[in-house]
Amino acid sequence: MTPIQFFDLKSQGRRLRADIDRRIAAVLDHGAYIGGPEVGGLEQALCQFTGAKECVAVASGTDSLIIGMMGEDIGVGDAVFIPGFTYNATANAVLITGATPIFVDVERETCNIDPGHLERQIKAVKAQGKLRPRMIVGVDLYGLPADYEALNAIARNHGLIVMADAAQSLGGEDKGRKVGALTDLTATSFYPTKTLGGYGDGGAMFTDDAARANRWRSIRWHGTDDARKESVRVGLNGRLDSLQCAILLAKLEIFAEELAARRRAAAFYTRRLEGRVAMPREQGGKHSAFGLFTVYVENRDSVAAALKDKGVPTAIYYNKALHRHLAFAPFAPKDGLPQCEWLQDRVLSLPMHPYLTEDQIAHVVESLLAVL
Ligand SMILES: *Cc1c(COP(=O)(O)O)cnc(C)c1O
Repeated sequence: MTPIQFFDLKSQGRRLRADIDRRIAAVLDHGAYIGGPEVGGLEQALCQFTGAKECVAVASGTDSLIIGMMGEDIGVGDAVFIPGFTYNATANAVLITGATPIFVDVERETCNIDPGHLERQIKAVKAQGKLRPRMIVGVDLYGLPADYEALNAIARNHGLIVMADAAQSLGGEDKGRKVGALTDLTATSFYPTKTLGGYGDGGAMFTDDAARANRWRSIRWHGTDDARKESVRVGLNGRLDSLQCAILLAKLEIFAEELAARRRAAAFYTRRLEGRVAMPREQGGKHSAFGLFTVYVENRDSVAAALKDKGVPTAIYYNKALHRHLAFAPFAPKDGLPQCEWLQDRVLSLPMHPYLTEDQIAHVVESLLAVL
């Protein structure tokens, strides 16, 4: 058996190398390194893939979150509700706009934001009267879409906007509708190890609202008007370059096939670990993109060390809930976030990528069951 990789970009790279070389050469030949035809080409292809009407490619997942908030004029005095168990970029984006992050607990069953606690946090902010509740950010942890039906209903009741942080979930779906088309606006990342990853940084934003997408196009180009002559709002350099788009277009050709391979690997893991190991589960018609495959274990350090000895690499996403980090502690809810704190001590991610063989997955499963 070949050594098991946690992620495996090399197998995909070998498979696509000739096509990627050809597409890179085309960019070098036409010379439009910024704003070349590959940018619009990628945006169009991603609209087709997700079913969203509008797509805007941007420089990173973090930029997609920041631009998503800037496009709704989120700023000082605004409250943005985010789960306490996610990557730090979700909270950083809120604070960069000047708004205040309000942490919400997650559900152990999905690792995603808890709609019940969200509703209580919105009511608490309203009762306090200091901040204006503006936006909910649903994070699709490990690839599983958050409960956008519930989040959209809560948002309608309270006059809020819902943004999906889909950095880990491109390719996921809810009752046949794809991530990118599940709520008002969606932000995703093309960091190399995400489900659709480039060879560098990148991201994209989705919406059905043409006016909103036009604001994003302006913001990503320094806040200029269509002629790029006049600054009509505050903006930044949030563009994705032509080379990165060319590479992503090559990878998009095999993306559906890769997602199916991730689903097969996840089904194998789930079948063999069911009843033996706790883990977040797909529910209510939602399907994960399986950016990561995560289980909950006690004595995590010793389990991870024993797996490493058996040739099974693992990783921890995340060992600290956000409200426990130095930078975000000032925003910690006074009673903490019990589920986030439970998860931070137990989550362990197993190898997950489209190029795992059945032998390799069986070895991971047997090793894990042997060391528990
Ligand atoms: C990766 C990630 C981001 C940030 O994306 P970058 O492209 O690295 O800026 C944001 N949120 C979540 C949940 C992520 O996993």
